Amino acid sequence: MNQNDLRNIIIDKARIKYIDSGITKNITEALKNYLENDATEEEQIPLFISKPEIYRLKERLKINRPRCEECNSELQMEENVRDFAGKGYATAWICKCGRIEYSENTVKEWLEILNENR
Ligand SMILES: [Zn+2]
Repeated sequence: MNQNDLRNIIIDKARIKYIDSGITKNITEALKNYLENDATEEEQIPLFISKPEIYRLKERLKINRPRCEECNSELQMEENVRDFAGKGYATAWICKCGRIEYSENTVKEWLEILNENR
């Protein structure tokens, strides 16, 4: 299954759950709800990223992930994140220990930064 197929399936699921049930009439809103409440990690990738270039960047980024300052685990990158106050960020590094570092840097900028630091 390619990314477009998966994306269409996700849109269908979001439509059934949030539009057909009457919760919203807006597909963007439905997708946002689906993403926040229902999407698996596998499903989140095509929802966040429509450009294959960004997907490739993320794959490359996985190799160079920074580690958590507190517990030394490898951090996970999330895109289009909101903090608890509702402020939006381009990216955030999230650790399994609960530490989150929000950033204005895009995935592409992070890749450049991390490659420079190698
Ligand atoms: Zn940690």
